[in-house]
Amino acid sequence: MDSSKTTSSDDLDRHIRLEEIRLLYGGTPFSYTASIVIALIIYSILSGHTVSQQNLNLWLFIILSVLFIRSIDSYRFSKRTKQQQLDSSWRTRFFIGTGIAGFCWGLLPWLGYSTEIEYFSFILVCLVGVVAGSLSTLSYRWETLALFLLPASVLLILRLLVEDKNFFTATSFVLLVFIFFSLSAGRKIFNNTQQNIRLRFEADSRERAIELMHQKQALHLQNTPLAIIEFDIDLNVTEWNRAAENIFGYSHDEAIGDNIMRLVLSRDSSVEAEKLWQRLLNHEAVTGSVIENKTKSKETVYCEWFVTPLTDEQNEIVGIAAMALDISDKKQNELAIIKSKEEAEKANQAKSDFLSSMSHELRTPLNAILGFTQLLKYEKNLTEKQQSHISEISNAGNLLLELVNQILDLARIEKGHLQLSMEKVMLSDCFKEVRAMISPLVEKNNLSLDINIETSGYVIADYTRLKQVMLNLLSNAIKYNVKNGSVQMKALQKENGIVRISVIDSGRGISQKQLQEIFLPFSRLNTASNIEGTGIGLSISKQLVEMMNGSIGVSSTPNEGSDFWIELTGNLNIASTIEQEDKTPLLNNTLSHKANAEHTILVAEDNPTNQILIMSQLEALGYSAELAENGQEALNMMVNTDYQLLLTDCNMPLVDGYRLAQTIRDRGNHTLPIIALTADAFPEKKAECLKAGMNEQITKPVDLQTLRSTLKKYLV
Ligand code: ADP
Repeated sequence: MDSSKTTSSDDLDRHIRLEEIRLLYGGTPFSYTASIVIALIIYSILSGHTVSQQNLNLWLFIILSVLFIRSIDSYRFSKRTKQQQLDSSWRTRFFIGTGIAGFCWGLLPWLGYSTEIEYFSFILVCLVGVVAGSLSTLSYRWETLALFLLPASVLLILRLLVEDKNFFTATSFVLLVFIFFSLSAGRKIFNNTQQNIRLRFEADSRERAIELMHQKQALHLQNTPLAIIEFDIDLNVTEWNRAAENIFGYSHDEAIGDNIMRLVLSRDSSVEAEKLWQRLLNHEAVTGSVIENKTKSKETVYCEWFVTPLTDEQNEIVGIAAMALDISDKKQNELAIIKSKEEAEKANQAKSDFLSSMSHELRTPLNAILGFTQLLKYEKNLTEKQQSHISEISNAGNLLLELVNQILDLARIEKGHLQLSMEKVMLSDCFKEVRAMISPLVEKNNLSLDINIETSGYVIADYTRLKQVMLNLLSNAIKYNVKNGSVQMKALQKENGIVRISVIDSGRGISQKQLQEIFLPFSRLNTASNIEGTGIGLSISKQLVEMMNGSIGVSSTPNEGSDFWIELTGNLNIASTIEQEDKTPLLNNTLSHKANAEHTILVAEDNPTNQILIMSQLEALGYSAELAENGQEALNMMVNTDYQLLLTDCNMPLVDGYRLAQTIRDRGNHTLPIIALTADAFPEKKAECLKAGMNEQITKPVDLQTLRSTLKKYLV
């Protein structure tokens, strides 16, 4: 059963009981006084006319005594608390008292009996009057009325019947009818009284609840941190609570009647406020709208508004109820976070810019170092010792180039400039190419290599970048291996269309602790300094694999070896065709053959070292070439000579490479192959070159084989 209902019906019962007893006792001062007066009048009128004056005296004594005792009881009741008045003993006492009183009045026709008919009739009338009077004071509880009426009337009727006169018998019959009607009227009064008490109680309870609600609302209204504001359709404020005073600085009296827009709106937010107002006019409630507001002292506060239109019975908008929460602190924090994020991004951008420009600057001298050492390798007059020194320079230069490239990659990934071209990469192709590239290193380190170039299937990846990751993992497996160790690369089909490519070595392994930082940039894990490395290969590999929607991981046992794996979307269960391996050497042993001499190449280059290098490279490849110091000079030279190809640097004084190419194309020469030599390895650079009308771009340091194959493409 619902306990709250039980409680309220218990409350109601208690309340009715209290009301009844209070009404009953409440009527006693009047009814007792009236009873005393009536008793005295009866006594004085009957004195000398009764059968026994002594009996009449006795009656008066009895009735006055009973009234006296009951008055004392009433007095005591009036002094009790409500709780004490509820005690059932009061009701019992009142019931007994009423029964005794009724009995006393019923004794009157017996003790005050008169043989004179008019005096006896007087007694009769008085008793009827007393009974009628009791109706108004005793009907609050039906049983009390009965307790009073019955003894009084029964004794009276008995007295009438004792007389044995027709007249009295008839009167007693009328009296019976009168008593019956009195009792039924009393019952009705009792029911009505009960109903009234109940209704009054319910109304009181409701009123109290409403009152409580109002009190609570007023309390909330005053203590809430929410500004509660109401304004009419003309935007004049009608309600303004304490929080509104605190937030906007206007007191209640200042705000009431003033225009809400003027009070709280900053000029910057008027457009937003207008939009909000239009939505309200469309009967739309607006919640959580953040508006820049101003205070009385013209300070800016940010408030989140919850606004609802108030409507009348015809659904016409009559006003607006609004709540505003001051979120300035939150907003300030947000702004601070955005600012610091911007600053961090700026710093990061600056770092990336620095890295990329530094790597660009390093490429130019590297171009000379690597280019000249490559040329020197083909010098016939060098001693063995000199050849070995050149090899060292070349190795160191290549390592430096690798570092520059890796830093450039890192910067490009961070800047979001690295673009991938995702395609189906046939694993056989990739494995074959990687094996060819890594084999010399494996041989040099006396290791065994196991790469199955007949691996079928494909993965979804960027071909070049996948190769880069594989080479990095393989070169690590070689570098960090042990004497006569082994390196294996294999592919494995996993569930859900995932292919795992593992590079497994029998090297020194990696401890559990070191594994945690292995993919962080520049972490070399206390690697002995004689093993060359930069510490960024794995971090780049991780970022590249993730950009290819894959994952990378490692499991390793110290002194046993490591298993570096990458997982990519793919399928191994399809056949792949293996092309015949190209056995032609990439570069001829001797470079100076005159086959290319009929082609005259124009070179535009401003850097003196690069000038010497490129001219030497072209000579080594057997091409005849002429040099222009910049774009302007190249244009001048082209007026008198027909060149078969133009090799041009991009950044040159007077006319740079782009303008040079553009001018040539603008002059109608669309056939001359123009190849750019740039230190920038960014794809945007290549796009810029193509846009200017160039055919191709070679990135410095210029590799002799790349130069040869590119020239061959255009000079047949
Ligand atoms: P680098 O090899 O240029 O130092 P990497 O990022 O490729 O940079 O590797 C980071 C470090 O992880 C290496 O310096 C080496 O200590 C460790 N490491 C990488 N691969 C292996 C491997 N196969 N076996 C043992 N250690 C390895």
